[in-house]
Amino acid sequence: MNPRPHPNLQEVRADPLPAAVKAEGLRFSYPDGTEVLRGIDLTIEQGESVAVIGPNGAGKSTLLLHLNGILIGTGNLRVLGLEPRGKDLRTIRSKVGIVFQDPEDQLFLTSVSRDVAFGPNNMGLDAGEVARRVKEALAAVGMAGSEDRAAHHLSFGEKKRIATATVLAMRPEVLVLDEPSANLDPKARRRLIDILLALPVTKIVATHDLPVAYELCDRVLILDRGTIVADGPVETVLFDEDLLAAHDLQLPYAFEKLPARSRRARGAASAAAVSGALPARATPGGQSPTG
Ligand code: ADP
Repeated sequence: MNPRPHPNLQEVRADPLPAAVKAEGLRFSYPDGTEVLRGIDLTIEQGESVAVIGPNGAGKSTLLLHLNGILIGTGNLRVLGLEPRGKDLRTIRSKVGIVFQDPEDQLFLTSVSRDVAFGPNNMGLDAGEVARRVKEALAAVGMAGSEDRAAHHLSFGEKKRIATATVLAMRPEVLVLDEPSANLDPKARRRLIDILLALPVTKIVATHDLPVAYELCDRVLILDRGTIVADGPVETVLFDEDLLAAHDLQLPYAFEKLPARSRRARGAASAAAVSGALPARATPGGQSPTG
Protein backbone atom coordinates (compact mmCIF):
# COMPACT_ATOMS: atom_id res chain seq x y z
CA MET A 1 0.00 0.00 0.00
CA ASN A 2 1.28 3.45 -0.87
CA PRO A 3 2.00 5.59 2.14
CA ARG A 4 -0.47 8.44 2.30
CA PRO A 5 1.00 11.93 2.00
CA HIS A 6 1.28 13.69 5.28
CA PRO A 7 -1.72 16.02 5.60
CA ASN A 8 0.58 18.95 6.49
CA LEU A 9 3.05 18.31 3.68
CA GLN A 10 2.59 21.83 2.28
CA GLU A 11 3.58 23.32 5.61
CA VAL A 12 6.86 21.44 6.00
CA ARG A 13 8.14 22.29 2.50
CA ALA A 14 10.64 25.14 2.37
CA ASP A 15 9.32 28.33 0.82
CA PRO A 16 10.35 28.62 -2.82
CA LEU A 17 13.09 31.14 -3.52
CA PRO A 18 11.75 34.46 -4.74
CA ALA A 19 12.63 35.15 -8.37
CA ALA A 20 15.72 37.27 -8.88
CA VAL A 21 13.54 39.48 -11.11
CA LYS A 22 9.81 39.42 -11.71
CA ALA A 23 8.39 42.18 -13.88
CA GLU A 24 4.80 42.49 -14.99
CA GLY A 25 3.77 45.25 -17.35
CA LEU A 26 6.83 47.35 -16.47
CA ARG A 27 6.74 50.67 -18.32
CA PHE A 28 8.98 53.69 -18.13
CA SER A 29 9.23 57.08 -19.82
CA TYR A 30 12.00 59.63 -19.31
CA PRO A 31 10.87 63.08 -18.13
CA ASP A 32 11.11 64.40 -21.71
CA GLY A 33 8.31 61.99 -22.61
CA THR A 34 10.44 59.38 -24.40
CA GLU A 35 8.68 56.08 -23.69
CA VAL A 36 11.45 53.52 -23.36
CA LEU A 37 9.98 50.46 -21.62
CA ARG A 38 6.62 49.51 -23.06
CA GLY A 39 5.31 46.70 -20.91
CA ILE A 40 8.06 44.28 -19.87
CA ASP A 41 6.94 40.86 -18.57
CA LEU A 42 9.89 38.91 -17.34
CA THR A 43 10.92 36.35 -14.75
CA ILE A 44 14.56 35.56 -14.03
CA GLU A 45 15.14 32.88 -11.41
CA GLN A 46 18.00 33.02 -8.94
CA GLY A 47 21.13 31.36 -10.29
CA GLU A 48 20.34 32.13 -13.94
CA SER A 49 22.75 33.95 -16.26
CA VAL A 50 20.72 36.01 -18.69
CA ALA A 51 21.92 38.21 -21.54
CA VAL A 52 19.86 41.18 -22.68
CA ILE A 53 20.67 42.04 -26.27
CA GLY A 54 19.10 44.41 -28.76
CA PRO A 55 19.86 47.36 -30.99
CA ASN A 56 21.06 50.73 -29.70
CA GLY A 57 18.34 52.62 -27.91
CA ALA A 58 16.22 49.49 -27.32
CA GLY A 59 16.02 50.23 -23.57
CA LYS A 60 18.58 47.74 -22.22
CA SER A 61 20.36 50.18 -19.87
CA THR A 62 17.05 51.68 -18.84
CA LEU A 63 15.77 48.23 -17.88
CA LEU A 64 18.91 47.44 -15.87
CA LEU A 65 18.67 50.72 -13.99
CA HIS A 66 15.26 49.61 -12.67
CA LEU A 67 16.76 46.58 -10.96
CA ASN A 68 18.16 48.52 -8.01
CA GLY A 69 15.73 51.39 -8.08
CA ILE A 70 17.87 54.00 -9.85
CA LEU A 71 14.88 54.39 -12.18
CA ILE A 72 11.33 53.60 -11.13
CA GLY A 73 8.67 52.75 -13.67
CA THR A 74 5.02 51.77 -13.51
CA GLY A 75 3.65 48.22 -13.40
CA ASN A 76 4.96 45.55 -11.06
CA LEU A 77 8.59 44.86 -10.37
CA ARG A 78 10.00 42.62 -7.67
CA VAL A 79 13.72 41.97 -7.29
CA LEU A 80 14.55 39.10 -4.92
CA GLY A 81 10.94 39.41 -3.79
CA LEU A 82 11.29 43.10 -2.84
CA GLU A 83 10.03 46.23 -4.51
CA PRO A 84 13.07 48.31 -5.51
CA ARG A 85 11.80 51.55 -4.00
CA GLY A 86 10.98 53.12 -0.64
CA LYS A 87 11.87 51.22 2.51
CA ASP A 88 13.42 48.24 0.69
CA LEU A 89 15.76 50.31 -1.48
CA ARG A 90 18.70 50.03 0.89
CA THR A 91 18.34 46.25 1.13
CA ILE A 92 17.98 45.94 -2.64
CA ARG A 93 21.12 47.99 -3.22
CA SER A 94 23.11 45.72 -0.93
CA LYS A 95 21.91 42.63 -2.83
CA VAL A 96 21.85 43.86 -6.42
CA GLY A 97 25.09 45.27 -7.78
CA ILE A 98 25.21 47.13 -11.07
CA VAL A 99 28.50 47.52 -12.94
CA PHE A 100 27.97 50.48 -15.25
CA GLN A 101 29.24 50.59 -18.80
CA ASP A 102 31.61 53.46 -18.03
CA PRO A 103 33.83 52.70 -15.00
CA GLU A 104 34.31 56.45 -14.48
CA ASP A 105 30.70 56.50 -13.24
CA GLN A 106 31.67 54.10 -10.45
CA LEU A 107 35.09 55.39 -9.35
CA PHE A 108 35.17 58.79 -7.70
CA LEU A 109 37.41 58.59 -4.62
CA THR A 110 41.13 59.19 -4.21
CA SER A 111 42.32 55.59 -4.17
CA VAL A 112 41.28 52.16 -5.36
CA SER A 113 40.84 50.86 -1.79
CA ARG A 114 38.53 53.77 -0.90
CA ASP A 115 36.42 53.18 -3.98
CA VAL A 116 36.11 49.46 -3.24
CA ALA A 117 35.44 50.10 0.48
CA PHE A 118 32.68 52.61 -0.27
CA GLY A 119 29.82 50.09 -0.61
CA PRO A 120 30.79 47.90 2.37
CA ASN A 121 31.23 51.05 4.52
CA ASN A 122 27.75 52.18 3.51
CA MET A 123 26.41 48.80 4.56
CA GLY A 124 27.63 49.62 8.09
CA LEU A 125 30.19 46.80 8.24
CA ASP A 126 33.00 47.09 10.77
CA ALA A 127 36.47 48.16 9.65
CA GLY A 128 37.94 44.64 9.77
CA GLU A 129 35.17 43.23 7.61
CA VAL A 130 35.45 46.14 5.16
CA ALA A 131 39.20 45.51 4.85
CA ARG A 132 38.55 41.80 4.24
CA ARG A 133 35.97 42.59 1.57
CA VAL A 134 38.31 45.03 -0.20
CA LYS A 135 41.12 42.48 -0.26
CA GLU A 136 38.87 39.69 -1.45
CA ALA A 137 37.21 41.77 -4.19
CA LEU A 138 40.52 43.06 -5.54
CA ALA A 139 41.92 39.53 -5.58
CA ALA A 140 38.81 38.33 -7.45
CA VAL A 141 39.43 40.81 -10.27
CA GLY A 142 43.18 40.19 -10.32
CA MET A 143 44.01 43.63 -8.90
CA ALA A 144 45.48 42.69 -5.50
CA GLY A 145 48.18 45.19 -4.57
CA SER A 146 46.52 48.15 -6.30
CA GLU A 147 44.90 49.46 -3.11
CA ASP A 148 46.82 52.74 -2.99
CA ARG A 149 46.70 53.55 -6.67
CA ALA A 150 44.51 56.36 -7.97
CA ALA A 151 41.80 55.09 -10.30
CA HIS A 152 42.49 57.87 -12.82
CA HIS A 153 46.02 56.47 -13.33
CA LEU A 154 44.73 53.04 -14.36
CA SER A 155 44.11 51.72 -17.86
CA PHE A 156 40.52 51.41 -19.04
CA GLY A 157 40.60 47.62 -18.53
CA GLU A 158 41.97 48.04 -15.00
CA LYS A 159 39.31 50.65 -14.22
CA LYS A 160 36.68 48.22 -15.41
CA ARG A 161 38.04 45.53 -13.10
CA ILE A 162 38.09 47.95 -10.14
CA ALA A 163 34.53 49.05 -10.95
CA THR A 164 33.57 45.36 -10.87
CA ALA A 165 35.40 44.98 -7.53
CA THR A 166 33.41 47.89 -6.03
CA VAL A 167 30.29 45.82 -6.68
CA LEU A 168 31.75 42.43 -5.69
CA ALA A 169 32.82 43.87 -2.33
CA MET A 170 29.11 44.09 -1.47
CA ARG A 171 28.82 40.33 -2.22
CA PRO A 172 25.75 40.87 -4.36
CA GLU A 173 23.21 38.11 -4.94
CA VAL A 174 22.39 39.56 -8.34
CA LEU A 175 25.16 40.97 -10.51
CA VAL A 176 23.99 43.32 -13.25
CA LEU A 177 26.48 44.24 -15.97
CA ASP A 178 25.96 46.90 -18.61
CA GLU A 179 28.19 46.25 -21.62
CA PRO A 180 30.96 44.56 -19.59
CA SER A 181 33.29 44.10 -22.57
CA ALA A 182 32.82 47.53 -24.22
CA ASN A 183 36.12 49.23 -25.08
CA LEU A 184 38.29 46.44 -23.66
CA ASP A 185 41.22 45.08 -25.62
CA PRO A 186 41.12 41.31 -26.28
CA LYS A 187 43.28 40.40 -23.28
CA ALA A 188 41.32 42.57 -20.84
CA ARG A 189 38.07 41.28 -22.34
CA ARG A 190 39.15 37.64 -21.90
CA ARG A 191 40.24 38.32 -18.35
CA LEU A 192 36.94 39.96 -17.41
CA ILE A 193 34.93 37.12 -18.97
CA ASP A 194 36.92 34.59 -16.92
CA ILE A 195 36.34 36.59 -13.74
CA LEU A 196 32.61 36.74 -14.42
CA LEU A 197 32.39 33.05 -15.31
CA ALA A 198 33.89 32.23 -11.94
CA LEU A 199 31.28 34.14 -9.94
CA PRO A 200 28.50 31.91 -8.62
CA VAL A 201 25.73 34.54 -8.57
CA THR A 202 22.73 35.44 -10.70
CA LYS A 203 23.98 37.46 -13.67
CA ILE A 204 22.06 39.82 -15.93
CA VAL A 205 24.22 41.14 -18.72
CA ALA A 206 23.30 43.77 -21.33
CA THR A 207 25.72 43.45 -24.22
CA HIS A 208 26.35 44.10 -27.88
CA ASP A 209 29.11 41.51 -27.73
CA LEU A 210 27.16 38.39 -28.69
CA PRO A 211 30.09 36.02 -28.09
CA VAL A 212 30.17 37.35 -24.51
CA ALA A 213 26.46 36.55 -24.21
CA TYR A 214 27.20 33.08 -25.57
CA GLU A 215 29.98 32.41 -23.11
CA LEU A 216 28.49 33.93 -20.00
CA CYS A 217 24.80 33.21 -20.30
CA ASP A 218 22.37 30.31 -20.57
CA ARG A 219 19.45 32.41 -21.70
CA VAL A 220 19.09 35.39 -24.03
CA LEU A 221 16.41 38.07 -24.21
CA ILE A 222 16.12 40.34 -27.22
CA LEU A 223 14.80 43.76 -26.30
CA ASP A 224 13.65 46.00 -29.12
CA ARG A 225 11.79 49.29 -28.82
CA GLY A 226 11.05 48.67 -25.19
CA THR A 227 9.56 45.20 -25.42
CA ILE A 228 10.98 41.70 -25.15
CA VAL A 229 10.67 40.20 -28.62
CA ALA A 230 12.52 36.92 -28.00
CA ASP A 231 13.47 34.91 -24.93
CA GLY A 232 15.14 31.53 -25.10
CA PRO A 233 18.21 29.36 -24.58
CA VAL A 234 21.42 30.95 -25.77
CA GLU A 235 21.96 28.37 -28.55
CA THR A 236 18.46 28.89 -29.92
CA VAL A 237 18.42 32.67 -29.97
CA LEU A 238 22.00 33.43 -31.00
CA PHE A 239 22.04 30.99 -33.92
CA ASP A 240 18.76 32.22 -35.39
CA GLU A 241 20.23 34.50 -38.05
CA ASP A 242 16.87 35.77 -39.28
CA LEU A 243 15.73 36.63 -35.78
CA LEU A 244 18.98 38.47 -35.07
CA ALA A 245 18.88 40.32 -38.38
CA ALA A 246 15.29 41.43 -37.75
CA HIS A 247 16.59 43.28 -34.70
CA ASP A 248 19.83 44.65 -36.18
CA LEU A 249 21.96 42.00 -34.51
CA GLN A 250 24.54 39.64 -35.93
CA LEU A 251 27.06 37.14 -34.61
CA PRO A 252 30.57 37.94 -35.81
CA TYR A 253 31.64 36.28 -39.05
CA ALA A 254 33.24 32.83 -38.46
CA PHE A 255 31.99 32.74 -34.88
CA GLU A 256 33.17 29.54 -33.25
CA LYS A 257 30.08 27.48 -32.37
CA LEU A 258 31.26 25.54 -29.38
CA PRO A 259 28.74 22.94 -28.30
CA ALA A 260 27.19 23.70 -24.93
CA ARG A 261 29.30 21.02 -23.25
CA SER A 262 32.59 22.56 -24.39
CA ARG A 263 31.33 26.00 -23.47
CA ARG A 264 30.54 24.83 -19.95
CA ALA A 265 33.85 22.96 -19.68
CA ARG A 266 35.63 26.14 -20.70
CA GLY A 267 33.68 28.06 -18.09
CA ALA A 268 34.54 25.47 -15.45
CA ALA A 269 38.22 25.67 -16.38
CA SER A 270 38.11 29.45 -16.12
CA ALA A 271 36.30 29.19 -12.83
CA ALA A 272 38.92 26.79 -11.52
CA ALA A 273 41.66 29.18 -12.60
CA VAL A 274 40.13 32.08 -10.70
CA SER A 275 38.62 30.08 -7.84
CA GLY A 276 39.69 30.78 -4.31
CA ALA A 277 39.85 34.47 -5.04
CA LEU A 278 36.26 35.05 -3.96
CA PRO A 279 34.40 32.77 -1.60
CA ALA A 280 31.10 31.59 -3.04
CA ARG A 281 28.19 33.31 -1.42
CA ALA A 282 25.80 30.88 0.17
CA THR A 283 22.59 31.08 -1.82
CA PRO A 284 19.31 31.12 0.04
CA GLY A 285 17.94 27.63 0.45
CA GLY A 286 21.35 26.13 -0.23
CA GLN A 287 20.64 25.83 -3.93
CA SER A 288 23.50 25.45 -6.30
CA PRO A 289 23.42 28.27 -8.84
CA THR A 290 23.96 27.38 -12.43
CA GLY A 291 25.66 30.60 -13.48
P1 ADP B 1 20.17 50.79 -24.88
O1 ADP B 1 20.87 50.53 -23.59
O2 ADP B 1 19.38 49.64 -25.38
O3 ADP B 1 21.07 51.35 -25.96
P2 ADP B 1 18.97 52.98 -23.43
O4 ADP B 1 18.19 52.39 -22.31
O5 ADP B 1 20.30 53.58 -23.14
O6 ADP B 1 19.07 51.93 -24.62
O7 ADP B 1 18.11 54.12 -24.11
C1 ADP B 1 16.80 53.88 -24.58
C2 ADP B 1 16.20 55.18 -25.10
O8 ADP B 1 16.08 56.09 -24.02
C3 ADP B 1 17.05 55.85 -26.15
O9 ADP B 1 16.18 56.42 -27.12
C4 ADP B 1 17.76 56.94 -25.39
O10 ADP B 1 18.04 58.03 -26.21
C5 ADP B 1 16.70 57.31 -24.36
N1 ADP B 1 17.31 57.85 -23.14
C6 ADP B 1 18.29 57.27 -22.40
N2 ADP B 1 18.58 58.04 -21.33
C7 ADP B 1 17.74 59.11 -21.39
C8 ADP B 1 17.55 60.28 -20.59
N3 ADP B 1 18.24 60.47 -19.47
N4 ADP B 1 16.61 61.16 -20.98
C9 ADP B 1 15.86 60.96 -22.10
N5 ADP B 1 16.00 59.89 -22.91
C10 ADP B 1 16.94 58.98 -22.57
